[in-house]
Amino acid sequence: MKEYRHNPYFNLFAKQQQNQFNIGNRTYKERLKLLNRLQQAITVTFRTQIQDALYKDLGKAVVETELTEIFAINGDIKFAKRHLKQWMKKQKVDTPLSMLGSSAYIKYEPKGVCLIISPWNFPFNLTFGPLVSAIAAGNTAIIKPSEMTPNSSALMAKIVVDVFTEDEVALVEGEVEVSTELLKLPFNHIFFTGSPQVGKIVMSAASKHLASVTLELGGKSPTIVDKTANIDKAAKKIMWAKFLNTGQICVSPDYVLIDKSVKVEFIESCKKWLKTYYEDNPKASDSYGRIVTDKHFERLNAYLENAKTLEAKFEVGGETENTSKYIEPTIISDLKPEAKLLNEEIFGPILPIVTYESLDMAIAYINSKSRPLALYIYSKSKVNIKKIMNNTRAGGTCINNNVLHYANHNLPFGGINNSGIGKSHGFFGFKAFSNERSVLKQYTFGVTELLFPPYTSFKEKLARITVKWF
Ligand code: NAD
Repeated sequence: MKEYRHNPYFNLFAKQQQNQFNIGNRTYKERLKLLNRLQQAITVTFRTQIQDALYKDLGKAVVETELTEIFAINGDIKFAKRHLKQWMKKQKVDTPLSMLGSSAYIKYEPKGVCLIISPWNFPFNLTFGPLVSAIAAGNTAIIKPSEMTPNSSALMAKIVVDVFTEDEVALVEGEVEVSTELLKLPFNHIFFTGSPQVGKIVMSAASKHLASVTLELGGKSPTIVDKTANIDKAAKKIMWAKFLNTGQICVSPDYVLIDKSVKVEFIESCKKWLKTYYEDNPKASDSYGRIVTDKHFERLNAYLENAKTLEAKFEVGGETENTSKYIEPTIISDLKPEAKLLNEEIFGPILPIVTYESLDMAIAYINSKSRPLALYIYSKSKVNIKKIMNNTRAGGTCINNNVLHYANHNLPFGGINNSGIGKSHGFFGFKAFSNERSVLKQYTFGVTELLFPPYTSFKEKLARITVKWF
């Protein structure tokens, strides 16, 4: 450990490392107490402060904060509390006949000292969500939230100090340099939520210590709408999911792949639903947010400019205002393949529409890109749904809906390759922060002992019998 002495976070890390077995050996009831304390802080003590911070950082409406932050974290805590006793139990496994005389079980033990690095788009949910799994599994944790949402970050620091001791859970605020220093320390597990680009940096740093990683990343999540779909219902759900949090969601429908014959009907329905949700002027709507930072606003503006240069068709919206970081809900079609909107993760309120003539073309289009975090299918055809499911890969899928798979705690959440490594939520989150320790207990003479050296001809026969019959 001497080599880390000069790291600015070494003392904090060392305190948690020293304390890890005290924390790890806590009983079910003690872990429950900790979860209760966090629940009280989120749902009672700091609830209005959370709403205020998110309004300041992201212009988030109270209803969205309640649903996508408070409800989400509270749901994680309630689910963990309900199942923790079972998760912490030894999980017995069968013993093969050749190992007669022994029994075996899996012990889910805490990994130890964990690092949680979180993004800005759901600052509370994506910080405290993984933390619920980390503490349920008996770990200590150091958290580094995003610097892009400073009001949320400062409030989370306050909550952590209120609920935990520093040798249990600590939060360090700051920018990239802070992450870089933290990543030099020999954490036992790193849980990172953010972009694939930074995910690679995190994985590379983790490889120095062979720390295990959970990488919850992003990318372009496609939505297929085929000609059998209920077009109006599809538009209703897609317009809600795409513009929720101003499109700044990892599982947001990034682009729509639609059968050419239903494109016009779909766009008309989209217009109708946008008017219902945000009236004639989304800028004045309390239900519509803003882009997080000037940098992200400029990035999205550049995508729009690029689309204009390539003579794409603006079906809806396109208005922007840099002083308030406002981007109108925008739908664009007829984009050329090289358009930025079809090649970069959008992470904002712009929806490209790509038409297809056959389902095979749609599938080939999806498979020409990195494997997505989510893939959504709107269809009434069982054959089409099966074809898409069997010929694509994605972290998760909703059929005739979008985004909501995230909220079912019984499902693992995460990506595949470029969209992530490992899973979170519920038991899958608990598992991510646990070492599945294999335990074999010998309680009487074991038949394997018959095969110990010296290797006589009798033992050779016995070995052959073992291979054949056991
Ligand atoms: P980001 O990768 O830029 O930043 C995430 C975190 O990493 C922040 O705390 C940041 O300070 C830190 N960081 C940034 N650069 C770093 C570096 N060079 N070294 C070490 N740490 C660094 O992501 P973001 O802009 O905060 O969030 C948007 C991205 O996150 C999108 O790609 C989105 O799809 C993804 N995301 C994924 C999920 C999921 O659950 N899969 C959820 C939300 C967001």
